[in-house]
Amino acid sequence: MKATKWTYQGNPFYTHFKKHFCPRCGTKVKLGYERKIIYRDSIIEARNYDFSDLDTNWLDSVDFRTRCFFCPNCEINISFKEMKEYEEKRYPFQRKGM
Ligand SMILES: [Zn+2]
Repeated sequence: MKATKWTYQGNPFYTHFKKHFCPRCGTKVKLGYERKIIYRDSIIEARNYDFSDLDTNWLDSVDFRTRCFFCPNCEINISFKEMKEYEEKRYPFQRKGM
């Protein structure tokens, strides 16, 4: 059996209601996701991933999908963390309340 698990970093207001632009080319980014498949053999070592709500006894692998931004022009994924860091540097006046 295989499970798919979505992880979501950052709040929905930040990701959905604010406009975000690619740090490289300035194109408006879309929402995408990064995929990482963890196999049963490595589940115990995979401490960075949260298996707490999954029954790992019957799983062969878990397909972890983490939300991120995607630039259709550069075809790169940009994590929420990277985007936030970039925006904070570039637009320090917008930090208030975020
Ligand atoms: Zn780009």
